[in-house]
Amino acid sequence: MSAFIEAASPHTMNTYGRLPIALTHGQGCRVWDINGKEYLDALAGIAVNTLGHNHPELVPALQDQLHKIIHTCNYFHVPDAERLAAKLVELSGMTNVFFCNSGLEANEAAIKLARKFGHDKGITKPKIVVYEKAFHGRSIATLSATANVKLQQGFGPMLEGFIRVPLNDIEALKHATANDPDVVAVFFETIQGEGGINPVRAEYLREIRALCDQKDWLLMIDEVQCGIGRTGKWFAHQWAGIVPDVMPLAKGLGSGVPIGAVVAGPKAAQIFQPGNHGTTFGGNPLAMRAGVETIRIMEKDGLLAHAAELGAHFNKQLTESLSNHPGIKEIRGQGLMIGIEFNQPCGVLLKRAADAGLIINVTADTVVRLLPPLIMTTAEADEVLSILLPLIHTFLAEQP
Ligand SMILES: *Cc1c(COP(=O)(O)O)cnc(C)c1O
Repeated sequence: MSAFIEAASPHTMNTYGRLPIALTHGQGCRVWDINGKEYLDALAGIAVNTLGHNHPELVPALQDQLHKIIHTCNYFHVPDAERLAAKLVELSGMTNVFFCNSGLEANEAAIKLARKFGHDKGITKPKIVVYEKAFHGRSIATLSATANVKLQQGFGPMLEGFIRVPLNDIEALKHATANDPDVVAVFFETIQGEGGINPVRAEYLREIRALCDQKDWLLMIDEVQCGIGRTGKWFAHQWAGIVPDVMPLAKGLGSGVPIGAVVAGPKAAQIFQPGNHGTTFGGNPLAMRAGVETIRIMEKDGLLAHAAELGAHFNKQLTESLSNHPGIKEIRGQGLMIGIEFNQPCGVLLKRAADAGLIINVTADTVVRLLPPLIMTTAEADEVLSILLPLIHTFLAEQP
């Protein structure tokens, strides 16, 4: 099988360490590969397939849209873009939305917003505060904001205009920005995803909100991975009761159809004027319909409360089974964004889980990451655990 897949992919660039698996179809939280092998999906295409696979209401809606119109370009109004923007405004407490096609594009737009916010105030060399272990994407600007030097290797020079600080340390932030008149924004993920499921503490979020108000900085929160209901709130920062000024979204918003969005509050909504920013595909009718239907179905089926409950169930079971083991450093996350940190690299678990019919992920070398579809049932969650926990215990027993 593996030889077939490798021989079948000689023309795509060698950018990913792929598993020798080609998935051909799915139903709910299950997917099947080219050989008919079945897997339980606890990754959802990296937090993208919010509604799982072949959802009985999403697919007919998308089919309906395909028959009507796929793309028009932004020389025209797109009614579903207005509908989706209105919904995001309602859910976020913010005011205006720019649509694009991916996470990095949303973050790129946020960085441009912050820089223009500075220029509009006469700051010609604006600086943005970013964080250790952050991941914001692979374009040059978002890669510069990303912390992982391995990802930056070979692509220098990185952009200037970023100040990097540790997470959850307000004094470090104040120290790094002390007497610096060029700071315009603070930019972070509420729960760092690629960096290893590292949550920002609610207290720190509130402190940063206050500091940004005091200093007239933009509070920009990358909710590309942790947003869209995954943690049990629409947006993970809402657990702290704050509202950001700029919020990039992507992954789960279209349930698999490429989409990105930057939501802005009053302080940032008027920064872009006609001609300042744009994209050909962004906000196209197919992606907008996917976003509208995803949120409609999530609301109708109570998926936020479900994500919170199922996340608590996962957390309880994982904690009971693993937390006393010396090889386990921490179990953390919120809702259906779950990290299990080991004391050593645990990448082998990826292949072992796939062999056992379970799709998971390992990030930051030592963290098993679970990002299941929000439609996962408790029975399916128990099935995930019944496959994963024995694999973890076997792996732990092998360690010296
Ligand atoms: C995935 C991710 C991105 C990048 O999104 P792409 O769609 O891959 O460009 C940015 N920020 C966070 C927090 C992410 O998880």
